[in-house]
Amino acid sequence: MKVLHAAAELFPHVKVGGLADVMGALPLALRKEGIDVRLLLPAYPALLKVAKVFSVEENFPDLMGSGQARLLLAEVPGSVTVYLLDAPGFFSREGGPYDDHGDTHRRFSALSWATAQFALRGGSEGIKYDIVHVHDWQTALTPVFIKCAWEGHRPKTVLTIHNLAYQGIYSKHILDEIWLPKESFHLQGAEYFDQINFLKGGLAYADAITTVSPTYAKEIQEPEGGYTLDGMMRYRSNDLKGIINGIDELVWNPTKDKHLRTVFSKKDIKKAKAYNKKVFQNEVGLAESPNSPLFGVVSRLNDIKGMDLLIANIDHIVSNGAQLVVLGKGDYNLESAFHTATLRYPGSVANYIGYDEGIAHRVMAASDVLLVPSRSEPCGLTQLYAMRYGALPLARKTGGLADTIVDITEESLKDGTATGFLFVEPDSWHLGEAITRALTLYKNEQKTWHSIQVRAMGQDFSWAKSAQQYVSLYKNLVK
Ligand code: ADP
Repeated sequence: MKVLHAAAELFPHVKVGGLADVMGALPLALRKEGIDVRLLLPAYPALLKVAKVFSVEENFPDLMGSGQARLLLAEVPGSVTVYLLDAPGFFSREGGPYDDHGDTHRRFSALSWATAQFALRGGSEGIKYDIVHVHDWQTALTPVFIKCAWEGHRPKTVLTIHNLAYQGIYSKHILDEIWLPKESFHLQGAEYFDQINFLKGGLAYADAITTVSPTYAKEIQEPEGGYTLDGMMRYRSNDLKGIINGIDELVWNPTKDKHLRTVFSKKDIKKAKAYNKKVFQNEVGLAESPNSPLFGVVSRLNDIKGMDLLIANIDHIVSNGAQLVVLGKGDYNLESAFHTATLRYPGSVANYIGYDEGIAHRVMAASDVLLVPSRSEPCGLTQLYAMRYGALPLARKTGGLADTIVDITEESLKDGTATGFLFVEPDSWHLGEAITRALTLYKNEQKTWHSIQVRAMGQDFSWAKSAQQYVSLYKNLVK
């Protein structure tokens, strides 16, 4: 079976969030399941730098005002075969992939349009793809372009929502600029309160829709979780499925992690985590204190991630003799609140405002608890990494967090399933209560704590399981 994936991020070259991790790992896991999978991405400078280009597959003269564009067949280390949309007018820029230069709508409609054209024609090899699988709003118009095409081979389409909060909404006056077929601009299509909504277009036209956890698939069909598209999600509910993300074992593996001073497994967790903690406390300017429970955060800093709830709990954490380390970047007011806390509690609170892959790994290895107090979380990856590294996740019971963490209760301790701490209400009081539960268990029940760590480390979050679910979805579509 031939499957073409299209997306706007790829780990480790272009990463904003979890989408990059998924695009780095899922295609390889699908290949292991026997799928001929290829990947189409914008030719960002970071990708062109590492790519070995073989041929030009398509020429697009003046693609949506970008000037001459081409589709290159290439190899990128550590990935499957890739096609790079080389449109220098759009993608040859410094800064983040979503920085707005006033033409974001054209850049990503162009990515979707080029993906569709390539899938319809098959490039120089005339490949007939069975499935085109696109990810998030940046590629969501692909199914629209494919379904509305007059000629060509029409593959089935799958759209995966990694986060429904981001939809790509623009004034309808840009309709001509993005080459959108007029017949798709209606209530059951890409039209959205008299504007254009890229994601909604994809939701309307894709043959199947997936999202990255079963609980999130339910939540987005309700007004509270649907980001105004809950009606659309209910309308497509028969074609909607939640498939949980996995862990890239090549990147996140404590027995082989190059970012750690000492690697470890379930067997030497106690000694090795203590050592990683000590080294890390020194690295980030925390007091070297083996018995202080260390709470870690690796996150974009915004309110959806519940970072305001955490700020309200810093006093609570510190006054109980615990430590906090925050690695993240995002909203200015949150960044400065964490910075202020570091000044107020030197040795007990540390932060690294920025993005750093190595520190992210060391937070997981050193921390006793990883905090993920998200208001909404489609899947979440950091809680999976935490478990693999013996840090117990403490999270809000939502989306993928609810699907991957088993709350520590008397019952779950008895039946041997507990892996972390969950709280339900998204407010600072309930987060505080969960923090108290973690502190109490850590102080009074080290043996129980250790047994939960061992269980968490042994959880199966492999990509193979998820890839098999995607394969059965593909097979159902082409039946
Ligand atoms: P989201 O995609 O909403 O940001 P996820 O938990 O799905 O959340 O994925 C976040 C990914 O980004 C994880 O791989 C996490 O380790 C990484 N990450 C987030 N912030 C940082 C940071 N400041 N430095 C390094 N890695 C980070």
